[in-house]
Amino acid sequence: MIALSKYPSVENQPSNDDQTSVQRFKMVEEQIAGRGVKDSRVLDAMRKIPRHLFVENSLKGRAYGDHPLPIDEGQTISQPYVVAWMTEALNLKSSDRVLEIGTGSGYQAAVLAEIVKEVYSVEIREGLKDKAHRLLNKLGYKNIKTKYADGYFGWEQYAPFDAIIITASVNHIPPPLIKQLKEGGRLIIPLGNTLYYQTLTLVTKISNELDVVQMGGVAFVPMIGEAKQK
Ligand code: SAH
Repeated sequence: MIALSKYPSVENQPSNDDQTSVQRFKMVEEQIAGRGVKDSRVLDAMRKIPRHLFVENSLKGRAYGDHPLPIDEGQTISQPYVVAWMTEALNLKSSDRVLEIGTGSGYQAAVLAEIVKEVYSVEIREGLKDKAHRLLNKLGYKNIKTKYADGYFGWEQYAPFDAIIITASVNHIPPPLIKQLKEGGRLIIPLGNTLYYQTLTLVTKISNELDVVQMGGVAFVPMIGEAKQK
């Protein structure tokens, strides 16, 4: 049983806040914990973050559904389960500094920011970067820095990172990202044909070699910029 401290009583009409919190708990139990994600920090973060604020008004009613949703400029906010799966796979510590490529709506950055010390997120579409930056500020995330740039090149100034998450598909691992990963660091990436499906791939840097684990099929929007030239 889930203890919902603010669960609406029968007499009182639930506030909007209570309603979304009920939806969030249901999302986590059914779509995420129900599919085997166990990391309590990931589950707690996703019970807390108001995902409906990361999508446009007309889609708010579907924000807790088991699917990705469109955001501006033909991009997408990932399916909740995929966000949880990727985050758990990174095996994060609270002291970690994490780089995200593809800020999009900012939702994944918020999930990371609930778990780790610092999040650095790079977005190649300026409008998306600005919007996510405003929302994350409004929600009070002081440990997220965003930047408008081609994430293929990482964020040299703050490297090296304990973990790197790439949320756009690409047919190879950008070499600058491997360089900016700490020894023992983890990198997760949807790797493969960017027109169709990719394989979610977890890479660990050990003694300057890469240990690679293929996790399963995913479909992400393509990485643009330098990645397209290769
Ligand atoms: N993590 C996001 C979803 C990302 S969708 C979320 O939680 O909402 C993929 C994002 O990657 C898009 O916003 C797209 O503009 C961005 N992107 C594509 N190519 C990129 C690149 N080379 N550098 C940085 N961001 C890129």
